[in-house]
Amino acid sequence: MQFITKISVAAVSALLSSGAVHAADPTPAEWFLAGQKAVTDGKTLVKYEQKAKNVILFIGDGMGISTITAARILDGQQKGGKGEENQLFFEKAPYLALSKTYAVDQQTSDSAPTMTAMVTGVKSNEGYLSVDHTAKRGELDAAKLEAVKLQTILEQAKARNMSVGIVSTARITHATPAACYAHTTIRDWEADGDRPAGATVPDIAAQLVDFNINGGIDVALGGGRARFIPATVNDPEYATAGRRKDGRDLTTEWVSKKTKAAYVWNTAQFNAINPSTTDHLLGLFEPSHMHYEADRVKNDKSGEPSLTEMTKKAIDILSKNPNGYFLMVESGRIDHAHHASNAYRALTDTIQMSTAVEAAVQKSDPKDTLIVVSADHSHVFTIGGYPQRGNPILGLTQNVGETKPELDMLGLPYTTLSYANGSGYTGSSDKQLAGAKSFGAPEGAWAAGSEGHSPTKYSGAIGRPLLTNELVQNSNYLQESTVPLPAETHAAEDVAIFAYGPQAHLFHGIMEQNVIYHVMADALGLPKK
Ligand SMILES: [Zn+2]
Repeated sequence: MQFITKISVAAVSALLSSGAVHAADPTPAEWFLAGQKAVTDGKTLVKYEQKAKNVILFIGDGMGISTITAARILDGQQKGGKGEENQLFFEKAPYLALSKTYAVDQQTSDSAPTMTAMVTGVKSNEGYLSVDHTAKRGELDAAKLEAVKLQTILEQAKARNMSVGIVSTARITHATPAACYAHTTIRDWEADGDRPAGATVPDIAAQLVDFNINGGIDVALGGGRARFIPATVNDPEYATAGRRKDGRDLTTEWVSKKTKAAYVWNTAQFNAINPSTTDHLLGLFEPSHMHYEADRVKNDKSGEPSLTEMTKKAIDILSKNPNGYFLMVESGRIDHAHHASNAYRALTDTIQMSTAVEAAVQKSDPKDTLIVVSADHSHVFTIGGYPQRGNPILGLTQNVGETKPELDMLGLPYTTLSYANGSGYTGSSDKQLAGAKSFGAPEGAWAAGSEGHSPTKYSGAIGRPLLTNELVQNSNYLQESTVPLPAETHAAEDVAIFAYGPQAHLFHGIMEQNVIYHVMADALGLPKK
């Protein structure tokens, strides 16, 4: 291809491999050169063979591969490009594998056994948090549970006098963060009153604050405040009470039991924390889950930090420890937006997690910090039709060379994004704009239920609606689904694992999800359990 010499290699590199978006499509020569450069770059990949001092595990809850693809396109389109050529930050990670997410008893799994696999090295059962699958479901007896506990990487790191932290936009007692520090067979036992009478297995919030290895957890930032304060005490931000029946105020206990400790619940307090003088930070920014990134600034009257801001603060506190740190960061609400059949919020939370990973990479040294980015499971979220290049990812499908959206066999337009099941069932979707307008309030439908279930009622007789681009690109639009369910479901296909730093090259091929623990433990040189 003689024309290659006519263009600047440097210009092509800047154009394509940086992930920059651009208005003009590459020429054939530019495509060819960019492909060549990817091979050249691959030959210079560095394997860091040394041990890791620190490990950061990022989890996009429910961040299947279709979610990553659609978020990449939305991000690129929001930056003014066609979108498909864009890269989320973590897509540039040097090493990649696929993770098989089934649990011992589930083909399609929930967040509890999947996170248990990633932080203990052992697969377990639906709803189980860091106990093995032989545990009796609903075990009330703490002594019996002791025998089936699985030690977590966070516990092992703390036992070695490393610092440890957990960050999530979901309740900090929700399954993904809880699997790092709590042991129970029922993921919903988040506050003491959630357990049946007679239970001696402690609730999850108590397990967080009572975590007693070497001074306990150092940083915990997320939602879930109500699980930490007594039912007799009002929430500081809303006219609601706490949920604890035992009278304990775990937020004040955190401060009184630990050294250089602080508890914060709003942005001003969070921003005032000086990482150099604070060793133990508990931040609980909502009674339940934190806001979606799309709603965070406009809906939270007292303010709450972004996932990126929480990640940075956590690293600043934890990285003071010369023994290193283990940090888990979860973008917990990608999952909730999918359950509600609202792609916009799932994708904008994914984009925010990409920014958080970028901040972590910038704040750490690839020679001593292993950074892993993965998901617990996927969702039944799909990108379909034959939309032309640059078609708005949230829009109606419009094919190459056409001036109008494609029509289905009923003569009706359809969107590129849809779900196999969920609350956007076509039988009710002519009411979606009206329904969507009721969404968005912090204590409204989006915040309802642990998974953000939609209150939509169904009528199968209506049939597909006449959709418009104005309707489907509304941020509150619920994408259509084939099967009517109150909440869209998880999906069973593999999810991606991205990795940077020491031993990152050990992520390769299609791996069982529990192998993620073993790579992290090996990188840290943790003793075999
Ligand atoms: Zn879920």
